[in-house]
Amino acid sequence: MSDLLEKVTSLCKRRGFIFPGSEIYGGLAGTWDYGPSGSLLKKNLKDLWWKETVQLRDDVVGLDAAIMMNPKAWEASGHTQAFTDPLVECKLCHQRVRADKSDEMAEHEKIHKDQKVEWTEPQQFNLLVKAYLGVVEGKQLEIFLRGEITNGVQVNFKNVVDSTRVKIPFGIAQMGKAFRNEITPGNFIFRSREFEQMEVQYFIKPDEEEGKKWFEYWKQNRMDWYLKLGIKKEKLRFRDHEPEKRAHYAKMATDIEYETPWGWDELMGIHHRGDWDQRRHEEFSGKNLKYHDPETSEEYSPWDIETSAGVDRSLLFFLIDAYNEEEKRIVLKLHPLLAPYKVAIFPLLANKSDLVLQAKKIYESLRNDFMVAWDDRGNIGKRYLAQDEIGTPWCVTVDFQTLNDETVTIRDRDTTKQIRVKVDELAKWFSGKLQY
Ligand code: ATP
Repeated sequence: MSDLLEKVTSLCKRRGFIFPGSEIYGGLAGTWDYGPSGSLLKKNLKDLWWKETVQLRDDVVGLDAAIMMNPKAWEASGHTQAFTDPLVECKLCHQRVRADKSDEMAEHEKIHKDQKVEWTEPQQFNLLVKAYLGVVEGKQLEIFLRGEITNGVQVNFKNVVDSTRVKIPFGIAQMGKAFRNEITPGNFIFRSREFEQMEVQYFIKPDEEEGKKWFEYWKQNRMDWYLKLGIKKEKLRFRDHEPEKRAHYAKMATDIEYETPWGWDELMGIHHRGDWDQRRHEEFSGKNLKYHDPETSEEYSPWDIETSAGVDRSLLFFLIDAYNEEEKRIVLKLHPLLAPYKVAIFPLLANKSDLVLQAKKIYESLRNDFMVAWDDRGNIGKRYLAQDEIGTPWCVTVDFQTLNDETVTIRDRDTTKQIRVKVDELAKWFSGKLQY
């Protein structure tokens, strides 16, 4: 593991962002649990994505489909056949690794040092995770935990059209868990077996020019969102897929990549899926899923421009990007809207009851609008350092001057500069800083 990734992983454990899944039982490879700071960060990330994608747009509606689906849906979408990674096995120790990731094979060969490693021929390995439904042993229905969240949108296309006022072009946004039997989970939460995705399926007229226009539009739109939330521009890039490497259904495909500590790697994908999903679901369900254009009375299978991002992968890259080591502190310079806590409130001294009382009053009044942290342990310097490590943008200290003139200090995380602000102006001051 690279040095920076190791530092971020260790901070995540130390400060309650992310813990290894089922840790007290020795863990379960590829699973992670989000702690107090991490669950807040994740919630903020998802809320901001939803705001950008659904709340502020007229042409996108939301959906929250079930994780478990009729197995026929996975046959139709091709996942039971084609959701595979090529796998090779080391003939010395029988460990399996991805054949399409030469770095993984090279990494494995290092384990055997002086021995010559021979590999088996690549075999396709299906990534769908199986589960069993039903109460009678032997008569249970074999199902799959969804391997990606797209299918729930595709099977509800008609329901959404019939129950709302959407007209093509329009999108359906969804976020939620997906499960994959990843052969080599790793790089902390970058590749897990249980993770979350956030996606838009944007349905357009089946027309080449429309396809190109909307594909370019969504590429830039998604890139802009990451930039708006503060990811460094030079750390992001587009990478077009070569035609032979595209998924079988994709007419066009581009990834947004981040320059990770282990090199450029995928953050999210933008795929032009054509009408592949709609046609397959029509064929397998026997239902007419075509769109009826109310203006022209045309009937057609729309094309779908998909944007698909990992919640956890985005969160990891926000963390890596925000991680700064300075001479005397480690500071997470997260965008204030992403930061788990917006403000921390400190009484200067924990044993002076009038300071504590006043600080509690401020704490109680601000927590109605913001996620606010409280800390009265140790000295102020240590409290600042603890908040810096979880990325809290502002710390408010109630001191003796507060008791005379009703002002407090606000200390800025990034500059460490302090200003004095009137207590009754605090809520307005913070909401001014927290506009999206
Ligand atoms: P990779 O090539 O890294 O395996 P993929 O191309 O198979 O990813 P997609 O199926 O396009 O990924 O999924 C869309 C997004 O979901 C990815 O860009 C990524 O952000 C996220 N994602 C996919 N697999 C995982 C995983 N195992 N763990 C965490 N996030 C994932």
